[in-house]
Amino acid sequence: AERTLVLVKPDGVSRGLAGAILARVEAKGYQLAELKLLTATREVLEQHYAEHEGKPFYEPLLEFMLSGPVIAAVFEGERVIEGFRSLAGATDPTTAAPGTIRGDFGRDWGLKVQQNLVHGSDSPESAEREIGIWFGA
Ligand code: ATP
Repeated sequence: AERTLVLVKPDGVSRGLAGAILARVEAKGYQLAELKLLTATREVLEQHYAEHEGKPFYEPLLEFMLSGPVIAAVFEGERVIEGFRSLAGATDPTTAAPGTIRGDFGRDWGLKVQQNLVHGSDSPESAEREIGIWFGA
């Protein structure tokens, strides 16, 4: 089955939303295959966010992702990559549609980086790459 990497970012964990977020993904029918709570390292984040290196939000994004524990999970299922991104909603939590994780739980906190609760892989290639980064080959 297709797999995707899901992260509950530090804002989601610190606000006590991890269970609610994971419950939505499970309720949609995707199968939890891996799950852990950890504080990321800079090394892992540099690999994970390699495509954003050099962008204005890159350093603030890494600082934010290092600011507290995250949940890393692998979910499996038919078209789970698209399905999770649909559940997550648009990147900007202020304008993400109601009914989505970001739309229901997120807003602009007035900081320089978007604290948008979750990450989901955007393609099968990204998913395999990111699962390797967070869970090993
Ligand atoms: P994700 O990959 O986290 O699911 P995404 O695919 O919607 O979200 P990307 O474009 O891959 O977003 O950016 C990765 C993350 O970087 C975003 O989730 C957000 O936290 C942050 N980010 C992206 N664009 C901006 C921006 N213009 N300003 C601040 N932060 C940003």
